[in-house]
Amino acid sequence: MTESRIVLYYKFAPIKDPEAVKLWQQTLCRELGLKGRIIISEHGINGTVGGELSAVKTYVKQTRTYGPFRGTEFKWSAGEAEQFPRLSVKVRPELVAFGVPDQVKVDAEGIIGGGEHLKPEQVHQLVDSKRSEGVEVTFFDGRNAMEAQIGRFKNAVVPETETTRDFITELDSGKYDHLKDQPVVTYCTGGIRCEVLSALMKDRGFEEVYQLDGGIVRYGEAYQDSGLWEGELYVFDGRMNMRFSDDAKTLGECVNCAAATSRFHNCADRGCSTLKLYCEDCSHIPVTTRCAACTARAEAEPGHPNQGHLGKVRRRLASA
Ligand SMILES: [Zn+2]
Ligand SMILES: [Zn+2]
Repeated sequence: MTESRIVLYYKFAPIKDPEAVKLWQQTLCRELGLKGRIIISEHGINGTVGGELSAVKTYVKQTRTYGPFRGTEFKWSAGEAEQFPRLSVKVRPELVAFGVPDQVKVDAEGIIGGGEHLKPEQVHQLVDSKRSEGVEVTFFDGRNAMEAQIGRFKNAVVPETETTRDFITELDSGKYDHLKDQPVVTYCTGGIRCEVLSALMKDRGFEEVYQLDGGIVRYGEAYQDSGLWEGELYVFDGRMNMRFSDDAKTLGECVNCAAATSRFHNCADRGCSTLKLYCEDCSHIPVTTRCAACTARAEAEPGHPNQGHLGKVRRRLASA
């Protein structure tokens, strides 16, 4: 039996010719039989790659031979390459799609003007030292708001974001201006979003911005559920959610019956990728797990029982 591994990594560094790097990475992965997703931009590289252990080792070694990628940190995890249906290597304007490629500046050291990196224990030190001065540190969630429904740092600010692009509108809305002279720690799943987010915040006048190094993943490894984190972590694979220990709180609520749950379920309609929280019982009722947009579409079809006057009344009652 062959052993499989997955590596997750990112590196911010100036790339003069992303297309050439793409071709090199594509060839390298194909030769080694690796699968996964790699994004390359003028700002660097971000990838999740899986395959046979020795092939992944070779991949890591080879990738690090390229000057700008020297010193890249690879996070190893157990897992099958089968988690990825194929190999996708793409050139994009940004590694994380905030929609503002021109506002991100990188040099060989990484993003220019980003927040100070704090390791998990340094976050605790910061919170304690600020508290002794009578100041509370604010945790700022750098993920999509949905993810924070099942887990977040205690008292965290969760911006109203459906996609990464929404952060720009949120930051420019003035909603968070009261934090501009406050200590703010940005956090996200693995740390890459906060590399960019913290720089965008500093650029907009937030004076004291930190970022959680290695993200929630590394924090959870260090403190599980005995620190400042609460709940479960949303993850981008088949599991959808994970807990750091059996003490993890369940923060999420079923959208149908309000029972405690951490489980996201896809909309019942095929091809719709809307995710909502449902408890175990409600998750088995297709009508219930159909999202609002798909329900409206279905009801608009001729012959649907909710057509006409009765349908209107029903809908009014449902939205009351
Ligand atoms: Zn329920
Ligand atoms: Zn839907």
